[in-house]
Amino acid sequence: MRIEQSPEFQIHLQNLKNKDPLFLETIYNVGNGHIGVRDSNPLQGNNPDYIGSPGLFINGFFDYSAVSYGEKYSGYPDNDQVINRLFDPRFIRIKVEDEDSATDHFQVENIDKNLDMQTGLVHEMFSVTTPENRNFNLVIESFASLSKQNVYGIKYSIIPTNFEGDIEVIKMHDYINQATHQQSEDVRVNQDVGQMQLDFIPDYGQPSYLVTTFRSQQGIILTYQAGEATNANPKIAYFEDENHHYGYRSRYHAKPGSQKEFEFLFSIGNIHPLVNARMYADQYLASLDNFIRNTSFNAELMASAQVWQTFWLHSDVKIDGDPVIQSCIRFNLFELNQSAGRDELTSIPAKGLTGNGYGGQFFWDTEIFMLPFFIYTEPTIAKKLLMYRYHTLQMAKEQASDFGLDKGAMYAWRTINGYEASAYWLAGMAQFHINADIAFAIEQYYTITNDEDFLKNYGFEIILETARFWMQYGNFAEVDGERHFVINRVTGPDEYSALVDNNYYTNVLAQFNLRLAVKYADKFSDTDIPVQLNVTGEEIEEMQEAADLMYLPYDKEKNVKLQFQNFEQLPKMDIASIDQSMFPLLLHYHPLMLYRSQVNKQADTIMVDYMFPLGNTKAQLKADYDFYEPITTHDSSLSKAIYSIVAARIDRDQQAYDFFAQAVKTDLVDLHHNTKNGIHAGSLGAAWSGIVYGFAGIVNNADHFSLEPHLPEVWNCIKFRLRLHHNELLFTIYQDQVEVELMSGKGMALSVYNKKIKVTPEDPKEVAPH
Ligand code: BGC
Repeated sequence: MRIEQSPEFQIHLQNLKNKDPLFLETIYNVGNGHIGVRDSNPLQGNNPDYIGSPGLFINGFFDYSAVSYGEKYSGYPDNDQVINRLFDPRFIRIKVEDEDSATDHFQVENIDKNLDMQTGLVHEMFSVTTPENRNFNLVIESFASLSKQNVYGIKYSIIPTNFEGDIEVIKMHDYINQATHQQSEDVRVNQDVGQMQLDFIPDYGQPSYLVTTFRSQQGIILTYQAGEATNANPKIAYFEDENHHYGYRSRYHAKPGSQKEFEFLFSIGNIHPLVNARMYADQYLASLDNFIRNTSFNAELMASAQVWQTFWLHSDVKIDGDPVIQSCIRFNLFELNQSAGRDELTSIPAKGLTGNGYGGQFFWDTEIFMLPFFIYTEPTIAKKLLMYRYHTLQMAKEQASDFGLDKGAMYAWRTINGYEASAYWLAGMAQFHINADIAFAIEQYYTITNDEDFLKNYGFEIILETARFWMQYGNFAEVDGERHFVINRVTGPDEYSALVDNNYYTNVLAQFNLRLAVKYADKFSDTDIPVQLNVTGEEIEEMQEAADLMYLPYDKEKNVKLQFQNFEQLPKMDIASIDQSMFPLLLHYHPLMLYRSQVNKQADTIMVDYMFPLGNTKAQLKADYDFYEPITTHDSSLSKAIYSIVAARIDRDQQAYDFFAQAVKTDLVDLHHNTKNGIHAGSLGAAWSGIVYGFAGIVNNADHFSLEPHLPEVWNCIKFRLRLHHNELLFTIYQDQVEVELMSGKGMALSVYNKKIKVTPEDPKEVAPH
């Protein structure tokens, strides 16, 4: 297969010298949902002379680190969870005559870096100068395979520019915990590291390892092979050193301008319980080895590129008229696809697999901000992400029970293995809305895909158990002389308030969650599911009543939805008068100073206006927007895209565009100045929603699919595909008309600008004028 490299799919940043190398490490990462590799200095390894933050991250491969509390109360989690940072597979040791990159400081200059998003290949050139001024170019190509989740490939070319001499190349990884030099005061950057042990598996004919963790008791097997295809003279040979460590090396005599290539394929195993990994190491190794035997870097790259082609066919968003935004959105989609776990046992870490910010943990970010993209374009991945929640349901139930509740499931606010890992429970575990967020996502998945099997066998159970949580945590009470269902002492999405009563967002989502349980209990009433799950008629009636009587705080004078009860009593924080250097506020203010004020870190009540577009008047949306926008700092990168969508719905076109542009540029333009710690996966996903729900104006629920586009003035046209009810539709939206084309499926009806249209296999294309 030949892939024509199209310039629009290249991330080819210029002026690399002036860019923070750590930022580049993140941007040029390669990953595939199982593994992620930062784009580090290839000579760094664990040599403290080099300043970088390299690492290999394996989704779900974590260790515990004890949380230290000043005062530890009952039920606080003992442990945080942190994704392990394994040795950098890019690392290579190069000796030139008597100079050695492992002991001498070689100057490594970034000359050129290009990410080809069509193939997933990163191509780079470094100029390397030894202390004695010998200079060579080091060209590196690398990719993480999308066709074989375990495979990572890297190819090096060495080209001396000013010397003739002996070169020795050594590819050996004999440490496992990758050291970094990143020092950060930022609470969002987890300083803890996992503790791993590396054991060489001897006599395998290629370097192979068993890696185990001390506290989480996980194990994986890793192996790598030098490619046969190198123009070797002499070959790169497998060897064992005096410490019984295994690797590859090649010694040769090089002349200026000569080029020698070395390629390696890694096979990085799945996660096993430590005992199994030890016991079955040989078997696991044999199957991992199969992935990289009798193949080559190029063959695997091509196979992976083919999967990328399919991805772009279905998932690309084309924007005509705005080249910067175009490359940002493509970069975002590329990163989302690189980050999503696909094994049902992992989800999408908040920073993807590009850093250990937020400990590599999963949050609501997946269900609310990233899942829409996958549901509409890669539903098989969406299902796997939801299955992660199903496989951790048992833990959620255990947590509810340990917490003291009689029934229901209490999902962790942040976690890797399913158990709660938030060390600061006020802005962590108390964000119980995660339970309803998951239920909401299941409903979205189901209504868009009609996957009955999923709903019946997995989805309903989650919906039911999370609904049970609300019945346990909330209660009926009298408010202003009327009987209501209240949910007190929760933290909503906005982390600048904590432990509030009746958070509007939480209550609306809980109400939705309860209604789903009622609806599907009815749907499955003729099956044996209710009996299996111990559902009684009385329980369902109570859920119905709680949903109907849900208390939703509202300011009748201002006509705005109140973020929580008594929110109107708090003094407004004048954020416009705060010096820019004080943002994000969380790094500079005592949390209570924020909690006692009207100030938002991120969209909270506005999330409701985004997620439930029906049943709101424009006047209501405007009132909410005008109330919350001035008190929102957008210190969370999850905020701006949501404001953009609501701004689009109330015809604030310029604001919609400005917020969107900032959201979509979060990482490629480093708007929060912390992309060096990893991408902001949720924000990348939200930007896609900004296009689909905001500018294309899509409204979707079980029986309604409509579009009401209003494109930013600078855009001539946007094009994207969505999968809906077993159809795939191609939307081409111009300023004055919308084209809808059925690409596969039996066809369906939808409405565009309130006009009903229908696309069918016989008549696949419809044009609706504005
Ligand atoms: C946000 C949360 C988010 C988390 C991980 C925090 O800053 O406030 O809403 O889930 O980051 O992205």
